Amino acid sequence: MFSQFALHERLLKAVAELKFVEPTPVQAAAIPLALQGRDLRVTAQTGSGKTAAFVLPILNRLIGPAKVRVSIKTLILLPTRELAQQTIKEVERFAQYTFIKSGLITGGEDFKVQAAMLRKVPDILIGTPGRMIEQLNAGNLDLKEVEVLVLDEADRMLDMGFAEDVQRLVEECTNRQQTMLFSATTGGSGLREMVAKILNNPEHLQLNNVSDLNATTRQQIITADHNQHKEQIVNWLLANETYQKAIVFTNTWAMADRIYGRLVAQDYKAFVLHGEKDQKDRKLAIDRLKQGGVKILVATDVAARGLDVDGLDLVINFDMPRSGDEYVHRIGRTGRAGNDGLAISLICHGDWNLMSSVERYLKQSFERRTIKEVKGTYGGPKKVKASGKAVGVKKKKSTPKATRRKPVPRHRPSARSPTARRPTRCRWSARTAWRRSSAASRKRLLLNNAA
Ligand code: AMP
Repeated sequence: MFSQFALHERLLKAVAELKFVEPTPVQAAAIPLALQGRDLRVTAQTGSGKTAAFVLPILNRLIGPAKVRVSIKTLILLPTRELAQQTIKEVERFAQYTFIKSGLITGGEDFKVQAAMLRKVPDILIGTPGRMIEQLNAGNLDLKEVEVLVLDEADRMLDMGFAEDVQRLVEECTNRQQTMLFSATTGGSGLREMVAKILNNPEHLQLNNVSDLNATTRQQIITADHNQHKEQIVNWLLANETYQKAIVFTNTWAMADRIYGRLVAQDYKAFVLHGEKDQKDRKLAIDRLKQGGVKILVATDVAARGLDVDGLDLVINFDMPRSGDEYVHRIGRTGRAGNDGLAISLICHGDWNLMSSVERYLKQSFERRTIKEVKGTYGGPKKVKASGKAVGVKKKKSTPKATRRKPVPRHRPSARSPTARRPTRCRWSARTAWRRSSAASRKRLLLNNAA
């Protein structure tokens, strides 16, 4: 029961109205400590209720009579616009019986309108690091009186290249009294460094191991011969699986557009969501999916975070995500708040090793599934190593000069357009393509997908 927490009655009223009866494990663990003002480092599954775990204690701290606001008291940083929009909605729902005001700063929105909102000084400011920095540089943002700082999906912010921006924003909060850092995964050395630098004697709440994630989501793989074959499998799944809403993930904008076009041509009600779409289209796509106007979303990873849609029970990975963490975030769209979900990854020759490394990362073995109506010839490698990876076919040592054929020029993904250059056939694993793209193009891709 939420009444077990020392929360203000106006907050408990809002909680009851939202029909939250039992706190989720992350809420039960984090709320009491956050109410004491402790710094927290929380590793918790996406969809576990972690937003309420930090929002309720923040509101409790700010609650009071109506007064003229003179400074921003809380800053919540998140990696994507969608997640920021969702968080402000959650804050507003919990704050409905209070005088607490919140504001949103993300890319894709009018800069001057945001500046005007900042002049009115919200109690809680929520947003993505890139645009926050721009507002800061323009002299519109004063964070000196921020008392509570939240870094949500901190692992993802680092992945997206926001480390410097986050660091700068943290340094601006010179009167910070409490910091809470949330991530879906334990992250790497970058995250450990950030934790050491920013948090003060934090309580570490590890709500689940990565292998426990999404216990309610069945995870399957289906092998495929090439991308056209994957398209047939997607068609079959969308026509034959039982689902309320589905999301098809691709690694590139170009592939997302292509699949979307195919679905629309078959009269599916679908939307496409990726970093090339402007903010209006992105909002429309998510709203339509939430309202049920469309059942299918085709998306790149920009949608993997911050998308909380009721009834999203089927995730199809057309392309295997590039890392275990990315996989966790994608399948975190389904099986939310204890509901059942199904996640299916389509695996052709070039995806196999990446898939097996994700299995190892999760310490899980995905269910192998075959659909006889769309069965291809590739069924996985002939031999696998103990690691699960394919045993490579040894190259022939030498071919006599006379019979040596001219090598076919290999089509490399261009650094200028990392998204549009994927070959139709699965010639490389997504990881290889990623590795071969330049650092600059990776950063541009991530930033485009973000703020
Ligand atoms: P989050 O992980 O914060 O994105 O939350 C995932 C979903 O679970 C959101 O739709 C929340 O509104 C919902 N939720 C969070 N906590 C609870 C709770 N204690 N009871 C019921 N639903 C909840």
